[in-house]
Amino acid sequence: MIGKPKYRLETIPVWDGVQSDSECFLCDLMDEAEKHGVEFYLGSSVMNPETRVRVNEYGFCEHHFQLINKSKLSAQNMGLICDTYLSESRSKFEKAFNNVLNAKPGRKTVKAVEELSIKFASREKGCLICSQMKSRLDRYVYTIICLWDSDPLFKEALEQSKGFCLHHYEILVKTAPSVLGAKEANDFIKAITNLELKNLDRIAEENLWLTQKYKSENHDKPWRGCEDAQHRTINKIVGKHRVLDPIAKVN
Ligand SMILES: [Zn+2]
Ligand SMILES: [Zn+2]
Repeated sequence: MIGKPKYRLETIPVWDGVQSDSECFLCDLMDEAEKHGVEFYLGSSVMNPETRVRVNEYGFCEHHFQLINKSKLSAQNMGLICDTYLSESRSKFEKAFNNVLNAKPGRKTVKAVEELSIKFASREKGCLICSQMKSRLDRYVYTIICLWDSDPLFKEALEQSKGFCLHHYEILVKTAPSVLGAKEANDFIKAITNLELKNLDRIAEENLWLTQKYKSENHDKPWRGCEDAQHRTINKIVGKHRVLDPIAKVN
């Protein structure tokens, strides 16, 4: 392993995940992290002045604002978030709105609208829930790599697992060289790639059987657990959580 540990190990959730028989337990852990994020920002944290400042400054991406929107947790807390986020947005956009209203016809109007559009785009950067999820993902990925390197039982359990979605597989192999020495990283990357390829073959077969099962001659044959293979295949290909860039300073 290279240098001192960068993160605290998240051994318990990672061990639970690897034994869960999921197509990608990192996707499952991200499901949980997302749920916690929504609960956190709609919970009592909204009364905490520091959190309020962060919500006003960064807010949420469209996906996470809509998850908050759908939540039944607290209408009042949602209202409080809206109140200050909207007023902060108005003040950030004020100048650009005025420029649109005061622009002369032609090129100046086009430019003013373009500038407003840049302001809108920068306001949507730096979602707090995406940032929280990204930092959890970093710790989980780090833990998987460290446990694989240090615990033979974990290595075996991972070998028996169904691997990861392609998105999380990519993150694991990209991160390994910054956590392990060259030889160990190479071993890890090869082991994870073999695991991934084996499971892509498996899921391809399961998906194929699902398509065959709908043919009349196979009507009476067993499903062999492939009833939901199409959903699992899609999740395997794209994963469920592509978090946006973590917090970027918004002008
Ligand atoms: Zn995944
Ligand atoms: Zn987000």
